[in-house]
Amino acid sequence: MRVLKFGGTSVGSPERIKNLAQLVQTDESRIIVLSAMAGTTNALVEITELLYQEQNDLANEKITELEQQYRDRIDDLYASEEYKSKGNELITSHFNYIRNFVFRSFTTLQEKAILAQGELISTAMFHYYLSESGVNSVFLPALNFMRIDKDGEPDYFYIKENLDRILSEETEHNLYITQGFICRNVYGEIDNLKRGGSDYTASLIGSVLQSEEVQIWTDIDGFHNNDPRYVENTKALEQLSFDEAAELAYFGAKIMHPSSIMPCKSQSVPVRLKNTLSPTDAGTLISNDLVGKGIKAIAAKDGITAIKIKSGRMLLAYGFLRKVFEVFEIYKTPIDMITTSEVAVSLTIDDNSNLKEIESELAKYGSVEIDQNQSIICIVGDFISESAGSAKKVLGALENIPLRMISYGGSKHNISVLVNQEDKIAALQALSSQLF
Ligand code: ADP
Ligand code: ASP
Ligand code: MG
Repeated sequence: MRVLKFGGTSVGSPERIKNLAQLVQTDESRIIVLSAMAGTTNALVEITELLYQEQNDLANEKITELEQQYRDRIDDLYASEEYKSKGNELITSHFNYIRNFVFRSFTTLQEKAILAQGELISTAMFHYYLSESGVNSVFLPALNFMRIDKDGEPDYFYIKENLDRILSEETEHNLYITQGFICRNVYGEIDNLKRGGSDYTASLIGSVLQSEEVQIWTDIDGFHNNDPRYVENTKALEQLSFDEAAELAYFGAKIMHPSSIMPCKSQSVPVRLKNTLSPTDAGTLISNDLVGKGIKAIAAKDGITAIKIKSGRMLLAYGFLRKVFEVFEIYKTPIDMITTSEVAVSLTIDDNSNLKEIESELAKYGSVEIDQNQSIICIVGDFISESAGSAKKVLGALENIPLRMISYGGSKHNISVLVNQEDKIAALQALSSQLF
């Protein structure tokens, strides 16, 4: 069984949905995971924000606007009156459901239910389109098997047991359509795997079924060696290891959701990144194999806060770092980068929700300095065989950029530097032009 995930742009218009229907048909068994049509989840987020602010009339306007877009799409997508009317009924029922939450007290429960509508609509539209075109497929509601536990982590046991059962009940057809992103939580309520989480859905399914391959289809020809949104002439990589891809995805390479690497890595299920707009391109293969030497790719993550704790008492003392780390543990705030000197330690976080509390706790151990709006630039490759040369090349390329922190040696395949967010694009461009 292969798992193929198609992102928002791949289902972004009636034309794209029609192309997709061609692309997914083969004799092999496949599970197709779809995102919401591009722009829909953002629009739903906007609607939920208005509902939180009790701007109900404005929310209603946005709902009507989005509904009209879908009515136009239905009209373009289906050829027959029968399916146009089925499609319109579908839109009516989902938008009535959304409207149901206007003028009522609004909580995260309702928010999650609204955010789920994008994937529920796109998959149903696609399923109807296949059916109108005479292609048999099985609708596989993600809410019947995808589930997170009380810590928000995937409930692997539940997912596997239910998916196995549902698949074993269906013996006639081999093309399954399901929703990315959405799931149920431990209370059985509608929840989701966070923004961009459809990649994670595909990876979880691939992992529990021990699929031969998970394919992530998007609007670009693979994992590029630098962020194509900021740098020109970036190139798709043929191959990456899971560890390399994990570093890049975590540090900002938007093409993959950072959580989507681990499930496939743990079961050695290869992941292939493919371009819906150019399906014959080779794309990028991500597997447990480490191929190639030297510097491979660069990514950047914004919104980073650097915290420096300086203490005379750190000199020759033990236990200082433990106390510092404990503060972050208490506030459930992950640390990304760390650098130390004999009198101070600097570290970075990307979750500022408890920054004030963390700052006042840390002040017990020394003076605390905070710099917000920083970016981590992560340079990935094989730095063992060519370590001396690589570090020199990276720092040389960044000679005109002020560096706040440098982290090297934490793993075999990563050098990270911290820069001011406003220097990020210049840093990415300098690295690209001098390293590749
Ligand atoms: P989808 O909606 O299909 O999930 P995304 O927008 O989430 O697509 O991811 C694809 C986008 O990721 C690309 O269009 C590109 O702009 C961006 N991107 C950022 N970094 C990279 C990278 N290193 N390689 C490829 N794409 C990247
Ligand atoms: N539709 C969701 C989002 O926009 C999930 C996804 O596209 O992966 O975040
Ligand atoms: Mg995505």
